[in-house]
Amino acid sequence: MHGAVPVGMAGERGEAIREAARVLVAADTAIAVTGAGVSTESGIPDFRGEDGIWEQYDQADFTVQRFHSDPGGFWTDWLGLRADLIPPSVEPNDAHRALADLERAGHLDAVITQNVDGLHQAAGSERVIELHGSGDRAVCRGCGESVPAAVAAELARESSPPRCEDCGDVLKPGAVLFGERLPPVALAEARGFARDCGACLVVGSSLTVHPAASLPRQAVGAGADLVVVNADRTPVDDDAAHTFRDPAGQVLPHLADAAGEREP
Ligand code: NAD
Repeated sequence: MHGAVPVGMAGERGEAIREAARVLVAADTAIAVTGAGVSTESGIPDFRGEDGIWEQYDQADFTVQRFHSDPGGFWTDWLGLRADLIPPSVEPNDAHRALADLERAGHLDAVITQNVDGLHQAAGSERVIELHGSGDRAVCRGCGESVPAAVAAELARESSPPRCEDCGDVLKPGAVLFGERLPPVALAEARGFARDCGACLVVGSSLTVHPAASLPRQAVGAGADLVVVNADRTPVDDDAAHTFRDPAGQVLPHLADAAGEREP
């Protein structure tokens, strides 16, 4: 059980949350599509919100083309970005925990995330599809060997770019870079869920990075009901049964409480 409903959640807001919870409970299959906004309350900046990452960094420095043409320079810049994207000792917040609670209660079948911070898993979500890879690992572009991201970062600090200890080729961050293809298995699974789900909950995404951004519209096109929890407007708000502009860490715990336990 989560905390008491604050004043702002009473009345119409409370009723809207209960209705959104009914949407999730009524669906045979329900998914959440999450983005950087689900982690801002853990202290990780998003990309395009206020004070987003692109206020500080140049997106063009993090393309796969730059990685191939200038791996040493890429890694030097990546170490800075990574320190902001995945600060040490970062913890899941109430939004991550509420999504894990919804899954445990049988009201959510998968979290499809664009995030690379691992916080859904840390909160206890089990079915997590990482569309943009993982910030946990780095992978050798030669032999495919995978090493912990912290090891790759340490190697890069000694000499950039970091190299595979087995074959000597350059290591690439496990996160998907701009211009790089998404992991095909994860993308196929995500599209399958979008096609088959009866409810789709969008949390903390501007829905501007494709193909992840097209999943909610695909779900709606296949007949799913949509619930959007995002601080700013998204391109699918007009298709949504319910939209909430409040912080995800405030809305989702109430949604999870209202959904409650699934009937036997
Ligand atoms: P985005 O920055 O484009 O959009 C984030 C959205 O979340 C914004 O619309 C913002 O208004 C909203 N938001 C911010 N805080 C919120 C909160 N507390 N509650 C509700 N809404 C909130 O992010 P995106 O759509 O995920 O796409 C950008 C790319 O960013 C993705 O490819 C992702 O891989 C990457 N990214 C990941 C992380 C991470 O792993 N934590 C962090 C930054 C960026």
